[in-house]
Order: sequence, then structure tokens, then C-alpha cells
Amino acid sequence: MEELCTIVAMDSSNVSYTICTTCEKTLVTGSTCNSTNDNDVPPFCKFCQDFKTAAAAAFITSSSSRFKRLYRLLLSIAYGNKVVVVICFDKAARVLFGCSADEFFDFEKVNPFAALNAGKILEGEMFQMKLCEPKNGNAQHLRAVSVVPLRSGFRPVIDTLRKLYRVGHSSHQVPQSRSHSPFQTS
Ligand SMILES: [Zn+2]
Repeated sequence: MEELCTIVAMDSSNVSYTICTTCEKTLVTGSTCNSTNDNDVPPFCKFCQDFKTAAAAAFITSSSSRFKRLYRLLLSIAYGNKVVVVICFDKAARVLFGCSADEFFDFEKVNPFAALNAGKILEGEMFQMKLCEPKNGNAQHLRAVSVVPLRSGFRPVIDTLRKLYRVGHSSHQVPQSRSHSPFQTS
């Protein structure tokens, strides 16, 4: 069903999840979800790690070994005369955020409260949403499978956040909260 929806709130505590870099299976390691140093953990599921598939082996030797993330947003939306919680996966969430979940995660690492502010930015915005019943019988929330902004001046969240945090388009960002250099030698 297509509905005219207003975003009432976004759960900013958990906007993305990690997947295995090789087979893209969801990684259910709760403790790593909000970890800021995921470089300590190999970005593979147990299967790929145990069997060291060719792809995984190739990836380990590549320099960019890190988790891959996808969005999973919980949004409270109002439509008609009700308010419901819907779940919004990667494809639709990218329309709202304007960048990949990996990019947002990196942004959030150096810009505290980015997710919280993202929720505030989205509050009150209106969208045409296509809502579907979950395919999985255990899932409790409707899914927003497509999202189209209704306001002509709508800017994706990341644009507004970059302005808010005064982040230029240069890739040279200096995190100010770091107490030690990432190139620690001892
Ligand atoms: Zn895997």
C-alpha cells in the first residue's frame, strides 16, 4: 500500500547493522554493533572465517579489510489517523540519508550525535511510502520498501549534517576528540 506518511521519530540508537564482507550474511555479534573499533574483529561470518574461502582470503590480503554495513532504520510514522513503527532497510534508507551506511558510520565516528541529529532532521518530513507486510512471520513491523520525499526542498540527511558540523567536501577531516594518534607506534 502507498501512503502519505510523516516521520514522527527515528530510533537513533541503532541505524545500521554489519554484514559479512564475503557472503553478505547478517552478523549477529551484538557487541560489535556500536563498537567504534571494528578493525579488531575480522569482518566475516563464522562460516567464511572457518572455511577461509578464496574470496575471504583475497579480501584479507587487500588493504581495506573492514566491516560492511547496511541501514536498518526504525521509524515512527503517522499516516491516516494512526502512528505505526516501520522498518526501513538499506535501499529506502539511502534516499533519506543520501549516503551509504558505511559512509554514515564513518561520519558518526568523528561527529558525535550524528544519528540523533539525523532523527531530528527527519522529524516532520513527509514522504510517499510504500508499506509492505513483513515476509518473515516473526517480524513485527511493516516495512517501508520505497520512500519518496514530498517536499521539493528536501535534502538528504547527510547534506544537512555536513552543514551542521561544518564539514567541507574535502576528505581531510581532523577528529578533535582523539587523545592519541591512530599511528601509535609503541
Ligand atoms: Zn560470510
